Amino acid sequence: MIKVLKFGGSSLADAEHFRKAAQIVRSDPANRYVVASAPGKRFPEDIKVTDLLLECYRLARAKKPIDEPFGQIENRFREIIKDLGLNLSLEAEFATIRLVIKNRAGRDYVASRGEYLNSMILAEYLGYSFLDAEDSIFFTEEGVLDLSRTDESLEVLLGEAGNAVIPGFYGSMPNGTVRTFSRGGSDITGSIVARAAKADLYENWTDVSGMLMADPRVVKDPKPIPFITYRELRELSYMGASVMHEEAIFPVRDAGIPINIRNTNCPEAPGTMIVPSAEAAAAPEYIITGIAGKVGFSAIYVEKALMNGQLGFCRRLLQILEDNGVSFEHLPSGIDTMSVVVETAALEPHKENIVASINRKIEPDNLHILDNLAMLAVVGRGMVRAEGTAFRVFKALAEAKVNVRMIDQGSSELNIIVGIDAADYSVALDAIYREFVK
Ligand code: ASP
Repeated sequence: MIKVLKFGGSSLADAEHFRKAAQIVRSDPANRYVVASAPGKRFPEDIKVTDLLLECYRLARAKKPIDEPFGQIENRFREIIKDLGLNLSLEAEFATIRLVIKNRAGRDYVASRGEYLNSMILAEYLGYSFLDAEDSIFFTEEGVLDLSRTDESLEVLLGEAGNAVIPGFYGSMPNGTVRTFSRGGSDITGSIVARAAKADLYENWTDVSGMLMADPRVVKDPKPIPFITYRELRELSYMGASVMHEEAIFPVRDAGIPINIRNTNCPEAPGTMIVPSAEAAAAPEYIITGIAGKVGFSAIYVEKALMNGQLGFCRRLLQILEDNGVSFEHLPSGIDTMSVVVETAALEPHKENIVASINRKIEPDNLHILDNLAMLAVVGRGMVRAEGTAFRVFKALAEAKVNVRMIDQGSSELNIIVGIDAADYSVALDAIYREFVK
């Protein structure tokens, strides 16, 4: 049995958290590989080391002194080392990094140093090898992850190391320069390492006990989600429920490795298991797995008599959006009507152009744009073939006096998406949750 553990920034923010993380790692000899983030926030107003580094980068570019933020970074690491009682000095590393930043190092190199230094400390504390991501995680010329090259080299290096701490968030370009993933990217590194190690499980340790069935800022005390499939997770995270970097699913999904979201501050909680298929999950307790939603959508509503008999109508409409660089989110259509749901912020700058083009090229009988929409996604593998789910969703909305402006059921039968007025968002989310979770 091999497990890969990734600890997020808040799980490695100070010595106290390092101790908790180390206790978790030491509790099972299967915990062979550990991926570390940079120190995160210790309290709400605190600044993440990655943000301090980005501030250094910005100052260096503006030819201003970096001493203030860089001093804060050094002190955070010094404090962790001292509090853990380690016989380790990173002073030489600090001097090199400071110099390279002053000499206008690239943004990604600067941003990655938090993970680099934190992983050195964790490796020392655990007595594990330090395996630099620069030597084992590779990007292509285009800056996308080169999974096959990475897999090949990482598998060998991990095997040789036996156990190791690998910094999250970055790798290297073909010319050897550092390249990072987007923010929160250590989750992706964890997934890559789990895949290369042929791990049985990827544990992602953070500061919450897994995913909840709904946003706790909207629904009071939502229940945790014990099991969720990769596909359900995609649907929910697309609609704004976030617990992990979205791209972290892909490397492990192909390999069929489950991900377990766990809480460093509450290791006894089982957290959420993200599994490849419904068969790998326990039977769901509720028909729905979760609800998520987002505000800030607009619908472009187009009506034209006998539209459904016109070949290429839909394509022409979408082409206009494409020509304006606006991507669409949903596409519910009727017999002679079609609505294209887009993000309001993406539409706004091109609105006039788009309206003019639609009028000219499509000559609709009716065209209007509906703003201030919220989209809610009700997601659950339990919905497939369960009768009456849609009925219950709409009954709950009707009872809460929420007007449904649009309906879109995914062809997977895994989700029902409803468009409502943004002002009804919280009431609607709560009503649907209460309907299914009693
Ligand atoms: N430290 C990086 C960030 O703050 C990456 C990560 O923590 O995953 O985005």
